[in-house]
Amino acid sequence: MPSAAAPSAEILRKIGETVPTPYYLYDEKQMLERVRGLQAAFGWNTGYREYFAVKATPNPVILALLKRAGCGVDCSSLAELVMAERVGFTGDEIMFSSNETPAEEYEYARGLNAVINLDDITHIDYLARHGGIPERICLRLNPGGDFIIGNAVMGRPGDAKFGMTRDQLFEAVSRLKGLGVKSFGLHAFLASNMTDVDYYPTMARLLFETAVELRRAFGVSFFMMNLSGGIGIPYTPEQRPVDISDVGERVRRNFSDAFAPVGMGEGIAVATELGRYVTGPVGWLVTKAIHEKNTYRRYIGVDACAANLMRPAMYGAYHEITVAGKENAPKTEVYDIVGSLCENNDKFAWDRPMPKIETGDTLIIHDAGAHGFSMGYNYNGRLRSAEVLLRADGSFKVIRRAETLDDYFATLDFRQINEV
Ligand SMILES: *Cc1c(COP(=O)(O)O)cnc(C)c1O
Repeated sequence: MPSAAAPSAEILRKIGETVPTPYYLYDEKQMLERVRGLQAAFGWNTGYREYFAVKATPNPVILALLKRAGCGVDCSSLAELVMAERVGFTGDEIMFSSNETPAEEYEYARGLNAVINLDDITHIDYLARHGGIPERICLRLNPGGDFIIGNAVMGRPGDAKFGMTRDQLFEAVSRLKGLGVKSFGLHAFLASNMTDVDYYPTMARLLFETAVELRRAFGVSFFMMNLSGGIGIPYTPEQRPVDISDVGERVRRNFSDAFAPVGMGEGIAVATELGRYVTGPVGWLVTKAIHEKNTYRRYIGVDACAANLMRPAMYGAYHEITVAGKENAPKTEVYDIVGSLCENNDKFAWDRPMPKIETGDTLIIHDAGAHGFSMGYNYNGRLRSAEVLLRADGSFKVIRRAETLDDYFATLDFRQINEV
């Protein structure tokens, strides 16, 4: 069940007059509706803020729209920090949730007065040397083992490189208190693309109860409980969207269950760092069928490839694919939908029932708005595509031009061929 309405064949035809395929298309109106739904779900918490995970859709126009809607940003690299700064984010509008962080990035983040989220206890001394210890700091917990909701194992935090152990967290709080930290945040990210309504509430309870224990142990106070990213979207037609207001209500109950009895909660902001949930369903990769090939399997070759969207090649991820103008046509054929890379995993779909596709048809690859364009790469010399924003009034705007061969060659100096 899709959680966003796909662009019509008519709109794609209009865009196609000036923008060649492949390109990414994002729907402004539906994106902002998702943000408003999220903010309403956590409206019970005074300081609530969504820090949009920049890596999901790193485009300044998208970030500017989210900023205007009241979001902050979650960055984890220098380029993401610089992009956030240039869009106008500063101070506590920026989370810096990095790992294996280079010195210059801590220094840059401290210069912006971003909220630092420490991934490891050894980073205390590192940050003290590179940027300095701030008065407010967030710490990333990895509780280890399996992450279980009800009876189901939802993830294996113990195998993940992120965050510090519980013992390290306690030691870190004690040391940081000694170094002058006045208030703490807690952060965890235990599983990805979770459509279970209890994902956030279960993890939130862990963070809230840990905060109560830390206050009991060290008398420290807290400014933030950061639930991070990980809320999923329905990629397959059978999956159901998460009821975000239900998620917010369950987190609220756990917040008051944990904090009210001990007189905590006042001044503690709930934060989220969702990427996929916000932009995933409202972005599409638009491509054209350029070849049909019948050998041992039936192939439709398109002008996009895994270099534009690597999730299917990398994770075997399912993405819904429709044909513009044939949305309601019967699915009489079975195809592999493939790109041009010299790699056999360059497929957007395997054995996919589809309507009959003609060369020249426009194919829409759904749910590509997050971790789509941004995971792109240049293998086989394939170039990154344009990004287009569909405005609320039906007009559109190219918000990133397509890469050119000059861009691709920009880091090379061909004069060197005569010097070697
Ligand atoms: C990737 C990431 C996110 C966003 O994850 P989604 O799956 O897009 O919600 C948030 N926080 C951190 C620290 C991340 O690494």
